This record gives sequence, C-alpha cells and structure tokens, in this order.
Amino acid sequence: MKEAEKIKILQDQVKRLSALPFYEKRFRAGGIKPEDIRSLKDFQNIPLMDTKDLQQDLEEYPPLGSLFHPDTVRVTLSPGPKGLMPVYHTRQDVEEVNSELATMYRACGVGPEDIAAITFGYHLFIAGITIHGGFETLGCKTIPLGPGESQRTAEILNRFKVTVLASNPSFALKLAQEGVNSIRLLFAGGEPFSSVEGYKEKLRQAFGPIGLIDSYGLGQSTPVARECKEERGLHVADNLIYLEVVEPETGKVLPAGERGEVVFTHLRRQGSPLLRFRTGDLSVMEHIDCPCGRKATLTKGVLGRTDEMHKVKGVKLYPSQIDHLLRPLPDYTPGKYRVMISPKPGGGDHFLLSIEGKNPGSAETEKLTERMKEILLIRPDKVEFMAKLPEGPKVKDERYK
Ligand SMILES: [Zn+2]
Repeated sequence: MKEAEKIKILQDQVKRLSALPFYEKRFRAGGIKPEDIRSLKDFQNIPLMDTKDLQQDLEEYPPLGSLFHPDTVRVTLSPGPKGLMPVYHTRQDVEEVNSELATMYRACGVGPEDIAAITFGYHLFIAGITIHGGFETLGCKTIPLGPGESQRTAEILNRFKVTVLASNPSFALKLAQEGVNSIRLLFAGGEPFSSVEGYKEKLRQAFGPIGLIDSYGLGQSTPVARECKEERGLHVADNLIYLEVVEPETGKVLPAGERGEVVFTHLRRQGSPLLRFRTGDLSVMEHIDCPCGRKATLTKGVLGRTDEMHKVKGVKLYPSQIDHLLRPLPDYTPGKYRVMISPKPGGGDHFLLSIEGKNPGSAETEKLTERMKEILLIRPDKVEFMAKLPEGPKVKDERYK
C-alpha cells in the first residue's frame, strides 16, 4: 500500500472513531484533532492505548462499553485485567477478516480442493470460528474439530484425508505421533512457534517435508500477521491493520529492524475498533521483498512479552526469549530455567543461568551462549545444569537489596 493511501485510510478511521465517547475523550485530553493527522508522523501523536483503557471504558459505559457497534453480529471474549472482555464484530468486520485470511491462505498454496480441519476452540474466544471463516471463504471443505483428544482427532484427519490443519504446534506434534499422514500444510498458532529454535525442524521430522505456517493474532484482533509459503517471517495483515513497533518504556516509534512492542491500529473496523493498541508482545518489523508481494514482516516472529523486561549489563533482557533459545537442548523441559542477576564485586551485573536437565557438554553449552550473545546481545557469566530446579520465580534479581 502506498503511503498516501495508508494516510487517507488512517485519517478516515480516526475521523470515524472521534465520534465514539472513548476516543473523543482521549483526543480531547491529548489536544488531538482528527483533521491534524496528515502524515504518519502526525499519527504518532495519538496516545497509545491498552487493555486497561478498554476495561475502564466498560466500567464507564456498562454493560457493553462505548466501542459496541449496533450492527454487531458476533461477540467473542478476550481476557482482560478484571476478567473476560467483549470483542464486537459487525458483518462487515467478519467479511473483511474472512477475505484477508482467504488471501493469506491462498498465498500459502491452499485452494478449494483442500480439506481443512481446525483444532482451535470454537467457544468464547476468537480463534476457531475466525480461522474457520477464512477457509470457508476460500472454498475449502472445512471440518470444525475443536480441541479434543488426540487419538480421535487423528482418526478423523486420516479418515477424511485432511490436507490442511490449523492447530497449536504442540498438539500437531502429538497428532503426528498418532500417525496422521495426509497433512501437507500446518497453520500453527496460539503458542510461540517460528521464534522457538528448532521447533519447525522437530515438526518436519515428525510429519515429513510439510509447509509450516506460523501466525500471530490476539483476542482483540485476528489475524495480526501470518507467514506465507516462503516462510520468511510473519507478514502483517495490512489490509486490516496498521502496525507499528515502539520502544516499550517511552512509546516512541522505532525504526525498522529494531526490537520493540507491537502496536496496531484497525484500518476500517466497526466493532471494538482499536487505535494504536499496545499488545505487550515483542517483535521486530522489517520491510522485505517477498515473492508473494507482502513487505511489512515480523521477521523473527513474536519474541516475548514486554512486562517481563529486566535490564542486565545495560541490555534489555526478556526471559521468555531465553526459553526459546533453550528448546533445542535435548533434555530441556520448556520453562525449566532460572535467571539470577546479582551485583559483581567490582561493579556491573553477574548473570547466572540455571537450567534443569542433563549437562549437554561444554561444546553444546558454548554454542548456546554464543547464540544468546547473537540473539539477546548478552551472554551469561555462568551456565549451570541441575537435576531439579528449586521452586521460585523465573528471574531473581538481587541487585537492589
Ligand atoms: Zn510472502
């Protein structure tokens, strides 16, 4: 999309949204007039929002909130600070999402001849029903499996020779172990996938050389980004949203290629429209030339959450990224690690990484710390392996006692 076209769409949406009490109040407080938004730079003056703001709106305008649209035909729920919050979808919203998903699935090589099955949940949340709409729009024969026991699911997949599966990667792995053999494309989501070292290789070992498509979506908006068959990162769903990456502490928009918090704006959405919404998810956006034609891409997938950030040796460290790097270790159980940060006697920080599991040997450990240096820009001072990690938090910071 050309920049002028993008600005025009954003201007129109900002104008529409300024009629809603939620946004009217925010614009007034920030001294923002919709007609002042003439460039992407001006757009950055609009204050960021998050789930706490949505919660507050629900309390001020009970029970539906001011982002309810009278043409709503679907209501899904999304976890919020005080419980589940409604997300409204009008018919136009549903059709736009269906069409964007169908376009993205087509770019992965899916066609009407495919038989697709979905193991995501269909109740309450956005995932199952939304993905289903995309496959149906494309003309696939679509089976709403929902989550279930792996043996029965495998039987159904094999019986109907399902070719396309949408599932959590961990459940897909179980299905491969149950002997599912007709799948040629997996649409994975709901868990970290392409950002986890070695995860795709593990699935290809189990299924054979199938297409593995990672995706990223939220309870408030799905899809946000998805891979195409080139598997070069997650392309932003830019027919639906405008995506920015900001520095979590300051909210300043970061240049392409820098790691920061994903912030998105709905371009045309009518129900629960969000404007510069903070996701709390960390990623890197780059503009690439993909043969499929998409450019804006989250090249490294979703790397972790902003609310777990610790500054160590002057570098921002997000512990869940460590988890992703540890996954290729043969004896590692996800989440079984601890970061201990303590002051060094001569000044500076000491970073100890403890991992539950067998020691893979010094060469493997060295390889791991090299990868950490490369990806996290920081190397632990010491890595230790232990049979059982004591109970406690993932990160212990003893610097400020
Ligand atoms: Zn592509």
